[in-house]
Amino acid sequence: MSIDVSGVTKTFGDFVALDDVSVSLPTGQLTALLGPSGGGKSTLLRVIAGLETADTGRVTIEGVDATRLPPQKRNVGFVFQHYAVFKHMTVAKNVAFGLEIRKRPKAEIAARVDELLRLVHLSQFSHRLPSQLSGGQRQRMALARALAVEPKVLLLDEPFGALDAKVRKELRDWLRRLHDEVHVTTVFVTHDQEEAMEVADEIVVINDGRVEQVGTPDQLYDEPANDFVMSFLGE
Ligand code: ADP
Ligand code: MG
Repeated sequence: MSIDVSGVTKTFGDFVALDDVSVSLPTGQLTALLGPSGGGKSTLLRVIAGLETADTGRVTIEGVDATRLPPQKRNVGFVFQHYAVFKHMTVAKNVAFGLEIRKRPKAEIAARVDELLRLVHLSQFSHRLPSQLSGGQRQRMALARALAVEPKVLLLDEPFGALDAKVRKELRDWLRRLHDEVHVTTVFVTHDQEEAMEVADEIVVINDGRVEQVGTPDQLYDEPANDFVMSFLGE
């Protein structure tokens, strides 16, 4: 099983943001969408999420044609750079939110929130407000919140972009460890070559609305498909 993007084109007016993109992301894999700013990474992620509708092409998630499904029917969780956390809710309430709007039983919600906060090492901060957390802790809370509803797919757009280098590196390791524990199919956008190389099982290099190469970090490093990939990775 996989996420399959097939022949997706997306234009904004005359501008072609995605130009006939086809790519297959296997279930359980941690994939990075890597490329320079303006290349179309976020647009591709948003098409997978259902936040943008492709002009042409299809998106299939785990064998289900999702092309026309709204985001809430796609079973995806999101984390964005400036994630909209609920400022007046405690950490535990933030994590519980998705379960509460789904009217899950109280005991089940409490148990799940406990488990998730343990997973991201925030158990001792469960009664704090987001403003009382560091930037890194806040993004860990965002990760726990996205995972709460057990999405089939976790989508992250430059999730650590706003944080300083040291915290970014910590969170990068977090994402890898978390993924290894929960095995959720994960796609994350980054413009940082090193971040993609360190974290991802497989990297999709995107530039000018096209896929330049798909490969493991080793494959990209050893056999760059073209001059663009070579020079971008060499930066
Ligand atoms: P990346 O995430 O790789 O930096 P994006 O996918 O955000 O790139 O954007 C690709 C291109 O599409 C950019 O030139 C951007 O300006 C354009 N674009 C993205 N979203 C919109 C939109 N809603 N309206 C108009 N242009 C857009
Ligand atoms: Mg972007």
